[in-house]
Amino acid sequence: MSVTKPTPHSYAGVIRLGQTRFSAALSLAAFLATTMGLSVPTLAATGTHGGNTHPSETIKATGVVFEDRDGDGLRDQEEPGLSGVRVSNGETIVTTDDQGRYEIEIDAKDATVFVIKPRDFMTPTDADGLPRFTYSHKPEGSPPTQYAGIAPTGPLPASVDFPLVRRPEPNRFRVVMFGDTQPRDLKEVDFIAHDVVAPLAAAEAQADPEDRAAFGVTLGDVVNDDLDVMPPLNAVVGRLGLPWYNVLGNHDMNYDSPDDSLSDETFERIYGAPYYAFNYGPVHFVVLDDVIWSGIGPDRPRGRYKGGLGERQLTFLRHDLAGVPKETLVVFLMHIPVWEMEDREAFYRLIEDRPHTLSFSAHTHIQEYRLLGPEEGWTSPHPHLHVNHVTVCGSWWTGKTDENGIPHTTMRDGVPNGYSIVHFDGPNYVIDFKPARRPASHQMTIFAPDFVTVADAARTEVLANIFTGLKTTPVQVRIDGGDWIDLTRSSEPDPYYVRLKQAETGPNPPDGRPLPNPAASPHLWKGTLPADLSVGAHTIEVRFVDHFNRTFTDRRIIRVVPNPADADAQTDEQGQNGR
Ligand SMILES: [Zn+2]
Repeated sequence: MSVTKPTPHSYAGVIRLGQTRFSAALSLAAFLATTMGLSVPTLAATGTHGGNTHPSETIKATGVVFEDRDGDGLRDQEEPGLSGVRVSNGETIVTTDDQGRYEIEIDAKDATVFVIKPRDFMTPTDADGLPRFTYSHKPEGSPPTQYAGIAPTGPLPASVDFPLVRRPEPNRFRVVMFGDTQPRDLKEVDFIAHDVVAPLAAAEAQADPEDRAAFGVTLGDVVNDDLDVMPPLNAVVGRLGLPWYNVLGNHDMNYDSPDDSLSDETFERIYGAPYYAFNYGPVHFVVLDDVIWSGIGPDRPRGRYKGGLGERQLTFLRHDLAGVPKETLVVFLMHIPVWEMEDREAFYRLIEDRPHTLSFSAHTHIQEYRLLGPEEGWTSPHPHLHVNHVTVCGSWWTGKTDENGIPHTTMRDGVPNGYSIVHFDGPNYVIDFKPARRPASHQMTIFAPDFVTVADAARTEVLANIFTGLKTTPVQVRIDGGDWIDLTRSSEPDPYYVRLKQAETGPNPPDGRPLPNPAASPHLWKGTLPADLSVGAHTIEVRFVDHFNRTFTDRRIIRVVPNPADADAQTDEQGQNGR
C-alpha cells in the first residue's frame, strides 16, 4: 500500500480528496466545503445539545465500498462499487446499493463507521496484519488520557470509502485463537515471541499452504494496562503473517476515562471499532466488547468494570444477525465469559434460535469448555459451546523459569499456557488445544505417587486433569492394559499445581514471580488404584473422548514396593511420597 494514511486508525476508510480519479468534480465541491468549514452535509438536531459525552446531533456519512483491484487503497476509475455489503455505525447497519454506495446516520462528534467484511473479500491490513475496517470520526479527537486516543480527524470527508480486495475463501479453514497475551512490559512481549509466536510460525511454515491458518484472534487483555505495549506486541504477533483480529479486554482500557464510552479510545486508535463483525468463508464472526467500565468515582477510586454488552451493542447484534442466514455458523469472540455478562439473557434471546453458534472468551486464566445449560440461563434446545479459553500468558508469566528464563506460567487449573487452532468446515468445527513448549499430544496430566506400598495401593488416588474436558467428558483408567474403569469428576485443585505453589513457601523457593493461588479445576477426574497390584512397575493409562469424538490417551508409570513390614529396605516415609 502506498497511500499515506490520514490517521493510523482510519486507514481503510478515506479517499482523500484530490487523490482519487473518481468523481473529481463532486470531490472538489466537497473539498471546498470541507476547507471552508461547511462540510456537514446534514445536521439533524434530534435532542438537546448538552455538551456531554453523548452528543445527540447526527450527520449523514456516505461513501462507497469498492473492489480494490490493484490493492492501492484508492478507488480507480475501473474499480467497481460492491453492492450488498453491510456498513455499520455500531448500532444500525445499512447495505450498499448497486453502485456500492451507502449512507448512514452517525453522531456528529464521535462516531465509528465500519464495514462488515463479506465472504471472498478482504479489507486492507497494516504491516502487522491488523485489519483496517474502521473509519473513526472524532472531529475534535479523543479527550486527553494517559495513553493517546484518536487525534482530531477534522470534518467528515465527503466520501468515507472502504476498499476490499477479492480473494476466494474456502469452506474449510483454520483460525489461531489466543487468550490473554497480556504482557506488562517488553520482556513479556519477548516471552510471547519465544514461547508461542516463533514455534507457531515454524509449525505454520511446515503446514501445507492450503492448510495454513486463515487469520488469528486475541481474545482480549491484549496487554496489561500499559497500552504503549500494544504496538511492539502487534509487531511480534505480526510475524505470523496472518490477519489478526483483536478483542477488547479489561486491561486494554483507558482507566482515566470517566465512563465506558470513552474507555476504548486507545484500543480504537490501534485496532479499530471495539465491537464488529466479519465473514470468513461460510462462517460469520462477531467480536463483542463485553467489558463495561464504570470510571473512577467516590466509591471506586480505581474504577471498576463488569461484564456486559449494553443496549447499543445488543441493538447492533440484533441488526447484524438479521442479515445472517439461519443455517450459518456464528462465532462470538469476547473477553469476559458469557456467564459473567450481566445481560447474558438478552444476548441468549438474540442467538438461541440459531442451530449453529459457538463462543470464546478468556479473562479467567482457567480453561473451561462448557455447554451452556439452565445453570447459565440457556434454555434453547440448540447446543452452544462456550470455550473459556487458555491464555498465552498462562498465569501472567509467573512461576519458576526454565533454562531460557521463561516462567512455566502454568494456569491455576493446572493447564499449561498455550493457544488453540480452530478448524472450521461449513457449520462444523473442531478445536485443537496446543500447549506451549510441549508436544501437541500433551492433552492431560496424570497424577499418582511415584511409588506406593502394596497395602496402600487400594487407597491411592489417581487424578487426571483433562485440559479440554467438559462436565460430561468420559474419562477412564486402566492398569497394565487391563479393563478400562470410569474415573469420577471432582472439583478440586490440580495436585501438581498445589505442589508448585507449596514449593514457594518451602526452604528453597524457586525463582520467578509467585504463582496465583490454586483454584478448583473444572476438568479433573479421579479414582483409586486396584487393590491387587503386585510389587514392581505398572503402567497407568488414562483415556478420554473429547467434545469432537476424538480419543486421547496418556500414561504414567508407578512403582509398587513391598509393605514396610515385609521388607527392611522400605520405610514409611518413602511409602507416603506423593500427595
Ligand atoms: Zn481480563
